[in-house]
Amino acid sequence: MQLLDGVLVSGHIKEQIKQEVKDWQAGGGKQPHLAAILVGNNPASEAYVGSKVKHCEELGFGSTLLRLPANITEAQLIDEVNKLNNNDEVDGILVQLPLPNHISPDAVINAIHPDKDVDGFHPISQGRMLLGQPTFLPATPYGIMLMLEYYKIDTTGMHCVVIGRSNIVGTPMTILMSRAGNPGNATVTMCHSKTKNLKDFTRSADIIVAAIGRPRYVTADMVKEGAIIIDVGINRVDDATKKSGSRLVGDVDFDNVAPLCSYITPVPKGVGLMTICGLMKNTLLAAKLRGKK
Ligand code: NAD
Repeated sequence: MQLLDGVLVSGHIKEQIKQEVKDWQAGGGKQPHLAAILVGNNPASEAYVGSKVKHCEELGFGSTLLRLPANITEAQLIDEVNKLNNNDEVDGILVQLPLPNHISPDAVINAIHPDKDVDGFHPISQGRMLLGQPTFLPATPYGIMLMLEYYKIDTTGMHCVVIGRSNIVGTPMTILMSRAGNPGNATVTMCHSKTKNLKDFTRSADIIVAAIGRPRYVTADMVKEGAIIIDVGINRVDDATKKSGSRLVGDVDFDNVAPLCSYITPVPKGVGLMTICGLMKNTLLAAKLRGKK
């Protein structure tokens, strides 16, 4: 079994991005700038946004963190998005999800200008991805593809089972894994909460992408020997041995699945770090495309 090491791969990609930013600025390009909107104070969202802003500093990007109260209205939030759309300094905009229940995430995402949609969630970005046109890919699936590419894993002809059908992970993953390219060119099965006999599908999978949101849901009896396992899940579980009383685990029962498979991503230090890489690469691309206009 080989670990697909998010620290190693993201470190490598971040060095490339840093150099690209320097070259871009040396050639007269403007410093890439990411604006993040955080609504309310959900601790997990705080941590995700904090990490994204910290990465901007590390990679030589500018950043703006806009903190807005949980009782902001949808119209007010869209107004803030529009201000960022019209701000020439800003290349990429991300609105950290989830949003409070009274705000439609679709309405807010639709308000982001597609040229600044560095999370790749806008219908125009998703439509272009579906058609195989150049676009901002959703950050997590993009990061997973970068990881497979780094390890030169040829997925051509493999059976890939994606568990989960969200717009931000599961669905785009099925599209990217089935496209004509490498990584890609796999035969893809999408499973979800209404799939009957999930194990029948996963046991025939050469590659499993688990994006469910249930701790250690994919167990050893569901995995074929030699399979490649991509664990997207981030779940907090109680752990009395930790000072905080809890720790993060994935959607895969790592301890029992790892000995069976050929490659596996750990949680933490796996896909999460690659998501940041996807976001940062999209932001640099946005800056370059805007710079050309
Ligand atoms: P989601 O809740 O939107 O989607 C979960 C999907 O899992 C649904 O499509 C559902 O049909 C499926 N599902 C639920 N129960 C199931 C079951 N018993 N059997 C089969 N399928 C089932 O979640 P999401 O936004 O796609 O995120 C999934 C997980 O990935 C979460 O743990 C989230 O925190 C994590 N995540 C991690 C990153 C990262 O960077 N590592 C990024 C995004 C999401």
